[in-house]
Amino acid sequence: MREHDVVVVGAGLAGMRAAIAAHEAGVDVALVTKLHPVRSHSGAAQGGINAALGNETEDSTDNHTFDTVKGADYIGDQDAIEILCERAPLEVYQLEHWGAVFSRQEDSGKIAQRPFGGAGFPRTCYAADLTGLVILHTLYTVCVKYDIPTYEEWFVTDLVTDDSGNAVGVVAYDMIHGKIETIGAKAVVMATGGAGRVYRPSTNAHASTGDAMSLALRKGVPLKDMEFMQFHPTTLAANGVLVTEGARGEGGYLLNKDGDRFMSKYAPNKLELASRDVVSRAEATEIQEGRGIDGCVLLDLRHLGRDRIMERLPQIRELAIAFAGTDPIEEPIPIRPGAHYHMGGVHVDNWGAAPHMPGLFAAGECSCVSVHGANRLGGNSLLEAVVFGARAGEASAAYAQEAPAPKVPTNAADETQARIEELLSRENGPRQAEIRDELATVMQEKVGVFREDATLREAKATVDNLRQQFQGVVVDDKGKTFNTDLIHTIETGYLLDLADCMVTGAIARHESRGAHSRTDFPDRDDENWMKHTLAYLDDGEIRLDYSPVTMTKYEPQVRSY
Ligand SMILES: Cc1cc2nc3c(=O)[nH]c(=O)nc-3n(C[C@H](O)[C@H](O)[C@H](O)COP(=O)(O)OP(=O)(O)OC[C@H]3O[C@@H](n4cnc5c(N)ncnc54)[C@H](O)[C@@H]3O)c2cc1C
Repeated sequence: MREHDVVVVGAGLAGMRAAIAAHEAGVDVALVTKLHPVRSHSGAAQGGINAALGNETEDSTDNHTFDTVKGADYIGDQDAIEILCERAPLEVYQLEHWGAVFSRQEDSGKIAQRPFGGAGFPRTCYAADLTGLVILHTLYTVCVKYDIPTYEEWFVTDLVTDDSGNAVGVVAYDMIHGKIETIGAKAVVMATGGAGRVYRPSTNAHASTGDAMSLALRKGVPLKDMEFMQFHPTTLAANGVLVTEGARGEGGYLLNKDGDRFMSKYAPNKLELASRDVVSRAEATEIQEGRGIDGCVLLDLRHLGRDRIMERLPQIRELAIAFAGTDPIEEPIPIRPGAHYHMGGVHVDNWGAAPHMPGLFAAGECSCVSVHGANRLGGNSLLEAVVFGARAGEASAAYAQEAPAPKVPTNAADETQARIEELLSRENGPRQAEIRDELATVMQEKVGVFREDATLREAKATVDNLRQQFQGVVVDDKGKTFNTDLIHTIETGYLLDLADCMVTGAIARHESRGAHSRTDFPDRDDENWMKHTLAYLDDGEIRLDYSPVTMTKYEPQVRSY
């Protein structure tokens, strides 16, 4: 068995930032990742990362904090949001010092900042429209420099606990050698990214299947605020590929079929730069009421001119040409709301520690601290990944320095081995792809931008039925190495758990807040629902509980843009 002080699962922004922090704290830390680190979904992030640098304006940490609290529709924990916004400039400068090439202001040479949705000031630092890629590669070079051991193309299938219920390692399928291995550790940091693939279409990578959330859930750790799924206002109809909010930040307009700039009706002050839930609902309403074009509205960038588009949004232009057959220099791009970001995740505290399981930490999109509450602001999640990645790395290292040697059960991998053998021995049954497709379709249709009791219950019935079918799922590929059929099957099991938490939480929440918009309960209800949802898995059923929201200085107000 291999053993490290700290094992970090996931090598996106959160995982690598955590590993770097743990290494700098002096412990032996390793990364385990199903993808090569630079293939992580963080690399697809386009628009940017928020920090109140105040380079162009009188912005401040307080402004950033307030915008985030408001964006979250008052259900984010304000102490955590303060930490996020205070550490933001430090982390952005740290990334710059490690070599991240941010776009610059022409005159001063300082880091340039663009306006983003829900932000009172231009606060989003960016590297053209490739920000995530630039940061991901920067962190990877630091991991290489520090020689952090990395188990690449190892797919984690289980979280290992000792007799007292402490996290003491993980079990993983080493795809290259076709073996099931155990890695022991004094502390485990989960950083496996989002669960966007519960939906279809989705802006997320195929690998964004929320693995750690399900692994934690199955070990008795609750997931928080799972009903809050963000629909991004600008995705391409053909395949759900994202068009960054930076396109509106640079001045893009939204038009309906009559050429009206309809956001003036829904958000008279901020227009296209209202928060995402508001813009997505506006678009969905325009489309539902017959003012769309083939299920889309239009994103018009033409007035920005060729030079600005080529300098600031070159990737967007390429994507629009490739997937929508539209050159935004010449024509508006048809876009619509699409599943994008999951606000919920593993319930952790401000240090990324899971209160229900000593030794377990989580950071990045798989975790819920919660800084995004009911609706995340664009540019805040790359930030969350580095800020809370660093904090989880620091906290897990401190924990490991005090912890005794892990008591890893010698048979830790046996259960996984048996489960996989059983799966591979089955000859007939439904295939994972069918189950996954049906799941993603029902989530898209019935747990979308607008929700209501009857359709949510239909979605729940489908999820229950698919869970049943999944018991008999068949894996056609019986091979040992690089068995992607097997991996996708296990991931589908994770997606089913998460969809169940999302739907169950959504049925119960009788209000509209942020991304959770109920047509049968159209108002926010602070009296009864100013609380976080906690979802537990008990005997195969989701059980809900609730926990209080932390307020510091911002009283809930009516939210308008
Ligand atoms: C298209 C797109 C554009 C975006 N643009 C922005 C933006 O401009 N600004 C912003 O703030 N946010 C943006 N976001 C959101 C943001 O990019 C993500 O929330 C963030 O990058 C997540 O980082 P992460 O480290 O948590 O996860 P990821 O980067 O997704 O990394 C997950 C890691 O976990 C590993 N992993 C997963 N499961 C397993 C397993 N079972 N075993 C082993 N390893 C595993 C993977 O290999 C990977 O290394 C965007 C998201 C998308 C999809």
